[in-house]
Amino acid sequence: MSEPANQPVKPTERMEKIVSLCKRRGFIFQSSEIYGGINGFWDYGPLGAELKRNVKELWWKSMTKMREDVVGLDASIIMHPAIWKASGHCDTFADPMVDCLLTKKRFRADQIEPQSGVAYFWSGAKDETSGKEVCEPFSALLAPGKPAESARKVATQFYTQRGLQAPALLGERTEKVENTTKYNPENGALLTEPRMFNLMFKSHAGPVESEENAVYLRPETAQAIFVQFKNVLETSRQKVPFGIAQIGKAFRNEINPRNYTFRSREFEQMELEFFIKPDEVVEKQCGSVASLPESGAPTDPPQANWGWEVWHGYWVEQRMRWYESIGLTRDTLEQYWQKKEELAHYARATVDILYKFPFGTQELEGIAARGCFDLTQHQTHSGKSMEYFDQEATAKYIPHVIEPSAGVDRLLLALICNAYDEEEVVDEKGKAEVRTVMRFHPRVAPIKVGIFPLLRNKPALVEKALAVRDLLRPFMNVFYDDAGAIGRRYRRQDEAGTPFGVTIDFDTIGENGPELEGTVTLRHRDSMKQERVKISDLLSILLPQVQ
Ligand code: ATP
Repeated sequence: MSEPANQPVKPTERMEKIVSLCKRRGFIFQSSEIYGGINGFWDYGPLGAELKRNVKELWWKSMTKMREDVVGLDASIIMHPAIWKASGHCDTFADPMVDCLLTKKRFRADQIEPQSGVAYFWSGAKDETSGKEVCEPFSALLAPGKPAESARKVATQFYTQRGLQAPALLGERTEKVENTTKYNPENGALLTEPRMFNLMFKSHAGPVESEENAVYLRPETAQAIFVQFKNVLETSRQKVPFGIAQIGKAFRNEINPRNYTFRSREFEQMELEFFIKPDEVVEKQCGSVASLPESGAPTDPPQANWGWEVWHGYWVEQRMRWYESIGLTRDTLEQYWQKKEELAHYARATVDILYKFPFGTQELEGIAARGCFDLTQHQTHSGKSMEYFDQEATAKYIPHVIEPSAGVDRLLLALICNAYDEEEVVDEKGKAEVRTVMRFHPRVAPIKVGIFPLLRNKPALVEKALAVRDLLRPFMNVFYDDAGAIGRRYRRQDEAGTPFGVTIDFDTIGENGPELEGTVTLRHRDSMKQERVKISDLLSILLPQVQ
């Protein structure tokens, strides 16, 4: 992506510009902004809402409509609480949390960057005026190059909070430490010991706030797919291997929401559970189980002898191709294959697809081979059979599953970061200016085409422009703009990421000769090139590019 010459933009600066554009142009707003906002919650404005709908629709289309072997589900957010017991979320869906002893600010223990320096310890402090003593020990980390007084200042603040007016620090000793995560990286104050914090939002169903009525907002959409596995199987006439796809809200009471919308407390997921035969059944049926190709990835059409490993590789490749189809090229993505010791106990393999955000390379989607863990858990906890009778293999088994699980909001943020560009251009008067342009892939772009009558006070131009708008809008999102100079209108749409602009001018209405009548200028956002096309050809030119 091009940046203005000689001015490399720092990642933080780039992120600030992106956040500011999102607010200014109505992609993303802080939730409840007029009340000061609420941490971890975001709203999508007019452009963001369109972008989000496009992304979800494209995922749904590629997963369900374009495939024979995947069907959809739209389940409730609040489900029977026993589901979360069975899935393990009640007991293990928790993050380690630490608090700053001075500011009370909360951190996720595993997200604290290791620091080195000199740790100062005090056994307590004594009030120089009243003589009162506080015997609580405290510690602060002194970063290299800082004066010892700054650590003492932190300790003095701590003991002042404990009720001493003029604390004299007692029993000072020091120790060199390396790569410690015990101190607040912002002020050097000691943190509490980590405590586990369950991330599920809890509420009560019905008027009584008792433990029996406790319910949870789902922290993922996947469990609904597992618990409805039998119903979907019986009503959809699918046979294993097949999948169930779902898009919906998920809620996690994240300790430290951060990086804009990247880690939110309310977000949407797009999840597929793809049920496959256990390897023993494939082997019995086909004589052997295929292994992953030496090079390249398994692709369509799927084969009967695929076991979990090949299916998993197949889904990783499918997902990579889908990201490419919406404008995230392979060089913007990374695959992280989790190491054996990082895997959840039930997972056989997990690949994270990461995007290179300005704030770091971070997860967009996880693709896990989860064995038969989930269905088995629900069979055990509900007492209902999750077994499948495979007529072809004449075998009864609990299907295994491959789970590609993506976050809508993270993907939107990736698309926005990826699209943001600034370039130096020369305007009609020869003056250099910076053009901000969102280079969205036309498939995801919130508005597909801007319609511009050259002048708003020429009825013949306006009439024609409205006719072009009405011709295109049943098929794609158009934006009609007749306000201001044409160059300004182009720039506004560049910032919104609109890939095409159609200008209706005097040629269109035949004022410059009959040969140009019925033609318009089609402007391309990225190259800014303009071409003359017939109105009657517009739909066939634009439609294949935006669908
Ligand atoms: P992380 O390690 O970043 O917390 P995770 O591994 O717990 O994520 P999963 O449980 O695998 O995430 O959820 C699947 C997907 O849901 C993630 O890849 C991400 O895109 C999305 N997701 C998870 N948590 C959040 C969140 N707090 N905000 C936005 N999206 C999220």
